Amino acid sequence: MSARPSLASTLQRILLPKLLAAIFAFSLLICTAVVYFAHQQVSSSQQQYIDNLRTDINFSVRDTLLLLESIAGNDLVVNSFIDLEQRDNYLPLFFRTLRLSRATDVSLALFDFSGQPIISKNWQNTVPPEINTLWHAPTLQQGQQFWQMYEYGMVMAVPVHISASIEGALVFYVKDIGQLLNKRENSATQIIVGPGNKVLYSTQPDEVAPLSVFLPDQYPYSTVHSSQWQNLTLYSLSPIPQAYGAVLWLIAVLLLSIIATLAVSLHSVNRAARLTANTLDALYKSILVRMQQTTVIHSGSPKDEPAELAQIRSAFDNLAANLMTITLSNKQFANVIDSLEELLVVLDNHNTMVTCNQRYARVAEQFNLGATELQRISGYLAQTSKTLDATYTDVAVPRKITIKWALLPFVNDKKEVIGTILVGNDVSHQRDLESRNRLMTHAMESATVSIAIADITRTQMPIVYVNEYFSKLSGFEASEALGEPATILVGPKTERPTLKRMFEKVKVGQPFEETLLLYKKNGQTFYGRLAMTPVRVDTVVTHYVVFFQDVTEQEKTREYLEEAKAKAEESARLKSSFLASMSHEVRTPLHGISGTLQLLDASKLDQKQRKYLSLALQSMHNLQHIVNDILDFSKIEAGQLNIEHVPFNLSLLMETIFEQYYINCNNKGIELNVQLNLKETNYVTGDAVRLRQIMGNLLSNAVKFTSEGAVSVLVELVDQRHQWQLRGVVRDSGIGIAKDKINNIFEVFTQEDNTTTRRFGGTGLGLAITRQLCQLCGGDITVNSEKGQGSTFNFTIQLAKAYQELTDNNHADDLKPAEKLPAAKILLVEDNEINQLIARENLNGHKVMTASNGKEAINALNQMKLQFDMILMDCHMPEMDGFEATRRIRHGDAGERYTNVPIVALTANAMKGDREACVAAGMSDYISKPFTATDLQRVIRMWATNMDKL
Ligand code: ADP
Repeated sequence: MSARPSLASTLQRILLPKLLAAIFAFSLLICTAVVYFAHQQVSSSQQQYIDNLRTDINFSVRDTLLLLESIAGNDLVVNSFIDLEQRDNYLPLFFRTLRLSRATDVSLALFDFSGQPIISKNWQNTVPPEINTLWHAPTLQQGQQFWQMYEYGMVMAVPVHISASIEGALVFYVKDIGQLLNKRENSATQIIVGPGNKVLYSTQPDEVAPLSVFLPDQYPYSTVHSSQWQNLTLYSLSPIPQAYGAVLWLIAVLLLSIIATLAVSLHSVNRAARLTANTLDALYKSILVRMQQTTVIHSGSPKDEPAELAQIRSAFDNLAANLMTITLSNKQFANVIDSLEELLVVLDNHNTMVTCNQRYARVAEQFNLGATELQRISGYLAQTSKTLDATYTDVAVPRKITIKWALLPFVNDKKEVIGTILVGNDVSHQRDLESRNRLMTHAMESATVSIAIADITRTQMPIVYVNEYFSKLSGFEASEALGEPATILVGPKTERPTLKRMFEKVKVGQPFEETLLLYKKNGQTFYGRLAMTPVRVDTVVTHYVVFFQDVTEQEKTREYLEEAKAKAEESARLKSSFLASMSHEVRTPLHGISGTLQLLDASKLDQKQRKYLSLALQSMHNLQHIVNDILDFSKIEAGQLNIEHVPFNLSLLMETIFEQYYINCNNKGIELNVQLNLKETNYVTGDAVRLRQIMGNLLSNAVKFTSEGAVSVLVELVDQRHQWQLRGVVRDSGIGIAKDKINNIFEVFTQEDNTTTRRFGGTGLGLAITRQLCQLCGGDITVNSEKGQGSTFNFTIQLAKAYQELTDNNHADDLKPAEKLPAAKILLVEDNEINQLIARENLNGHKVMTASNGKEAINALNQMKLQFDMILMDCHMPEMDGFEATRRIRHGDAGERYTNVPIVALTANAMKGDREACVAAGMSDYISKPFTATDLQRVIRMWATNMDKL
């Protein structure tokens, strides 16, 4: 490749000559203008000089003429024409003293009308004779002022008037005109030239001599300007260098400017050439870069890039971007058709595939679709102009797919059909849905439950669907029910509160179930169990699906059951009240028998009598035990057995329990081994009575069923953070229990075999009660036993931790040996005489008075002066029972002094609520019958001795 000149040198070569020519032309123009301007300048100053000269002459002449005129008017001068004496004496003196203008060498003469001099100064021999006649005619004859410049000098004359007649003339002459003129300083020479080109006056006599002949051509190196004035020519003459000296700087400035312009232009051309070359180079490089890149990056342009080049670059960028966009849009188009969910195949007129999208390619590969299938589809669609559903199977998976094919013509720009476009939609899911829909509809139609759907977005919530069973149940055909309000089955007896509840639920879009009385088309009523479920569309409830069934039968059963339940409850209540009264009724005589026997025991008896009495007491004790068990069990059954949570001394309780059984075991000749592990805890919270009962039942059984060996007991506390677990093990070496019976011994009235009762007695209630009690106390009981090998009973109960020691420890007091009490004044209110007797005997040592009902008691309290310390009040009495009497006493019916008296109930009622009833009536405490002397002593000790505290 031949070496080509660079763009910079080419541009320089082209641009430089033109630029230089332009600068030259421009300089020429400027020079011409400058010369013209300089010439104008010089001419104007020369003209100015001439004008100044003329002004000076004018001024000087006028000045001198005025002076002459004033002299001519002077009285001395005028009178001298008449008064000759004066002329001779004073006029010469006057003339001598006269000074005219700045000229020193001037001549002055006064002439008479005939032109004869009268008097003169410096006139003789000075004034050339030629001038004498010049002024005659104008001044003496016409009376005018006169002045003239001659080659001899300058002459001026003014007439002298006496009474309007011209009597003479005053004539002035100066040889050197220069004396009259005010010489101004300038560089040029001013000349006054008279007729015949004679120089009359010159400001530079050395250069232009006065009286010489002046010809401008004689001064070729000077500029000459002239002006004609009267018979004179005024010249201004200046050597060219001087004339143009003032504008010489202009030429220097001009030259400098031209040189500067030249230098700037050359630099600019160079710079422009380089800039252009750089920009094009940058442009070239960016094109190269872009050709290698796929995306257009708008590269930064050089900082000093000219606007046009920047535009070109930007245009190019846009062009490149457009090209890229086209490329991208082709790609995007390909992406678009590849992103389509539909299958897309383009065929030419010969049914050969031109292109297809990826979705088609994948399906074709998976389901083995080929040219034949495409031809079949396009052939079918071309004939029918419908759509075609085709199902394909992928045997490998296996999987089925259903494609809905449609055909579109493939046209070119000229709208000519050049092929076909096959568009396939995967409708497998839709078909699945359709078949599922069919299945659902079928299921709903064949369901044996009524289904209705209501649109709750519209007023009255019209029914939009009912199934066949609905029609069967209600008698309304679908056509009759559709569009009807959702309340179509509601009738006059339909429960309004239930309906209201339902509508409230619908309002907030909640599901619900209700049973209510509905009406069939024929007016027959039935109970419908409705399950209503909201249907949400985008979180908004639009419909409710109602499933309902005829539950008339169930409803009747329910009503029946409810009735039965009410009856059962009533009978339970009756049972409980029966038990209560039974317990009262049985306990009262028992109490009587027990008390009497105890009294008998305390009396003097012979040995035989004592033996009988001991038998009677034993039977009495057994009977009490049985009655207590039955009562306990009834209470548990009726859910009336309450477990107390009261702090008590556990180790003391254990001590008293074992005390009794040591004696029993000793009597039977068996050992009692006790092991306690109470973690040094004395006080726990729980039901001490029930724990005693559990332990008592297990120990009595163990002792009862063991004839030799030992009964071992282990009681331990296990710390369970917030509470204790009490674990008890009662082991014996007794008869043991057969395997097949072991599971039943906790059942009510169950004994191992029928011989047990005969051999050992018992009711078969003990273990049942014990298990119930363990469970009520949060624990349980289990047994391990083998026939003839003894038995082991394990039980647990939960006890709360007692954080404070007992202050009024009833149980502890209970266990202390009875102390001698101070005698208390007690009013015993009891209707039963035996009970009165027993109580009195047991209250031996106290002052006791009796009343047989509430009324009597209040009377006694009112009438007696003596103040009772406490009242023992039976609950059930004739005329006024203990509850009423207590209320009245508290109210003050027995006087202010008894409103706070301790009243302790003596009640045979041991059922739930007894204690509450007593407390509600205002009683301080209660003891249930049959009570022992110790029970009685305990309450008296507690209340009668604590009276101060009340
Ligand atoms: P009972 O009042 O008859 O003792 P229980 O409920 O206490 O009623 O006991 C039921 C039966 O369980 C007893 O009749 C007896 O057969 C059997 N049984 C209970 N404890 C023991 C034991 N320690 N050893 C052997 N058999 C026992």
